[in-house]
Amino acid sequence: MKEQYDVIVAGSGLGGLTAANRLARSGHRVLLAEQHSQIGGLATYFSRRRHIFDVALHGFPIGMKKSLRKYWGPEYAACIVQVRRIVFDNPQFHVETRFDSGDFTRLLREHFRLPGERVEAFFQALRAMNYYDDRTETTGELFERFFPGRTDVWRLLMEPITYANGSTLDEPAISYGIVFGNFMSQGVYTFLGGTDVMLRMMLETLRTNGVDCETSARVERVLVEGGRVRGAVVNGRPVACRAVVSNANLLRTVHELVGDEHFGAEFLSGLGQVRLSNSSCQVYIGIRPGERLPELGDLLFTSTHPVYDAEALCARQVSSRTYSVYTPTIRPGSDRYTVVASMNARHEDWAQSDRQAYRLGKERLIEETLDALETYVPRIREIADYTEAATPRTFERYTLHPQGASFGTKFEGLASSMAISKQVGGLFHTGSVGIIMSGWLGTVNYGVMTANDADRYLAGATGGR
Ligand SMILES: Cc1cc2nc3c(=O)[nH]c(=O)nc-3n(C[C@H](O)[C@H](O)[C@H](O)COP(=O)(O)OP(=O)(O)OC[C@H]3O[C@@H](n4cnc5c(N)ncnc54)[C@H](O)[C@@H]3O)c2cc1C
Repeated sequence: MKEQYDVIVAGSGLGGLTAANRLARSGHRVLLAEQHSQIGGLATYFSRRRHIFDVALHGFPIGMKKSLRKYWGPEYAACIVQVRRIVFDNPQFHVETRFDSGDFTRLLREHFRLPGERVEAFFQALRAMNYYDDRTETTGELFERFFPGRTDVWRLLMEPITYANGSTLDEPAISYGIVFGNFMSQGVYTFLGGTDVMLRMMLETLRTNGVDCETSARVERVLVEGGRVRGAVVNGRPVACRAVVSNANLLRTVHELVGDEHFGAEFLSGLGQVRLSNSSCQVYIGIRPGERLPELGDLLFTSTHPVYDAEALCARQVSSRTYSVYTPTIRPGSDRYTVVASMNARHEDWAQSDRQAYRLGKERLIEETLDALETYVPRIREIADYTEAATPRTFERYTLHPQGASFGTKFEGLASSMAISKQVGGLFHTGSVGIIMSGWLGTVNYGVMTANDADRYLAGATGGR
């Protein structure tokens, strides 16, 4: 770490990584400071007994290919491959899909027996949606308008999106329309080689572009003087800079890293309305070398709950799980199979338990997941040789996100995130906010937008109040 930079990026989630790369490519001297010992934020992986577990690589829209090519390089785009078999299994239906508009149209007409013109009108309404449109209609109202009373159709359309960004039927239809529309263009994609390969490539690119990448480096404070950023304290050491891009959670950035005294009353009042998204639990299952998994599909949305219910999806008594199945094809050269079960979860359900209760809670989570998976893989207990669980406390610990928020903030967070630079000159925020700027694609794109703003600031040094 040097004593001075043009810009410090606090946090190496996909938003922070992409912003750092973009700023370095524009010729700025960049420090990327990550508090954890590994880069990636939620887009991470871990290794146990030669198994590699991907934490947040279940699927993203095709737009990721273009964004990676443009902002990271063609070698990244070449690794984007389609997730082909997506299966839904719940009390209302069992279907398999490629998760694109053509296949969904077929399903809605043939399996759900909806008139073709109704389905076409729904997709047209999605295509016509624009971020600046009327935001009063909720997703629930949108569904009721096109598919009144069809809770089975609502489930097909909504359950994967709730897993993908924590949104519910009560959120603005526009946020649903943009995210669902992104997937519907060409289906669901993943990164060939896994998260570990992608992060290694990113680290190399950043270093080639001159970024100083420091892990186990916590930005404790952003130093502000005369309404402008002058530096940051990293692991107790002041480092001078003209701008800070914070990839830390929006609320922590304002209240803890910068301090309320540097923000106007109106901004703080708006920020006071911003809700955090829910958190997650996961169970990681490694399959013994030499054993194989049966053909399950690549992504399985399973539930025993009678209907789509956002509250039930987060409940401690788990009734719905998404399984990501990783076969050797995703990691060429490997012979390993792993399964990652993901559940939406609430921090408060895990926060209070003492050490012993917490350990037992994790064991129960693993056992119940294995019980549920036996429906699809009857020999799972025989062929699994490693299991591990993550809870909202795990996510909080490794990312510092309050309450282990998996997808940043709800929709309203975007306005505050974007307004931050008008409060303090040289202060910028990037990272999961507002549903649209969440997920791998949303955070990469938001990282670029924020870097462009920071670049303009560094060129002209105007900003703040
Ligand atoms: C279980 C799960 C599954 C998911 N699956 C998918 C999926 O399949 N597809 C998809 O598109 N999205 C998925 N997501 C969402 C996606 O991973 C995230 O939206 C995205 O990776 C978040 O990027 P970010 O830029 O907001 O940063 P984050 O990943 O939130 O990272 C922020 C970083 O900042 C660091 N930091 C915080 N404070 C400080 C500080 N003071 N100093 C230094 N560093 C700091 C943290 O340690 C962290 O590394 C999933 C998320 C979860 C939790």
